[in-house]
Amino acid sequence: MNKMKNAESMQLIDITAETMMIPSEKVAHVQVGNPLEHALLVLVKSGYSAVPVLDVSYKYKGTIGKTIILNSVLGLERFEMERLSNTKVHEVMNTQTPCLKKSDDILTCLKTVIDYPFVCVVDEEGYFDGILTRRTILKQLNNYFHLNKNQLYQVE
Ligand code: AMP
Repeated sequence: MNKMKNAESMQLIDITAETMMIPSEKVAHVQVGNPLEHALLVLVKSGYSAVPVLDVSYKYKGTIGKTIILNSVLGLERFEMERLSNTKVHEVMNTQTPCLKKSDDILTCLKTVIDYPFVCVVDEEGYFDGILTRRTILKQLNNYFHLNKNQLYQVE
């Protein structure tokens, strides 16, 4: 396996989170202090299932998605929709999702996105740089395997 690095594998290992991420200016986000109603509006209008949550200085704080919002307004017998305007994003957001940094290589990225449709890329001070989606990683690997498919059938 580890005998020789050919040109393609060199290129693959040179790919970093930075080269694959969607940059912050193209990412829909909500702020910690927004009411859930605003977050739900952003999610429904954008069609995304979840988006990053940032503070006023654009530091990454968590993620919020449709399921978490619907669960948080679910009462005993009905959806208590009035809670959408009384509850702030930071009260229910997910803070457990791991993050990547721009310099992380494709193997670290691949391992991190296994359990998440996207993960956030954050700098040393916690400022939000962008997101990396599982789709982008799969596209990179798909390209790689197609370019190298002859080697997959090679007998030693
Ligand atoms: P995709 O792989 O494009 O289906 O994206 C997977 C998930 O990543 C989406 O459901 C969103 O939660 C998130 N996502 C992708 N692109 C964006 C974006 N431009 N802004 C915010 N969230 C995004």
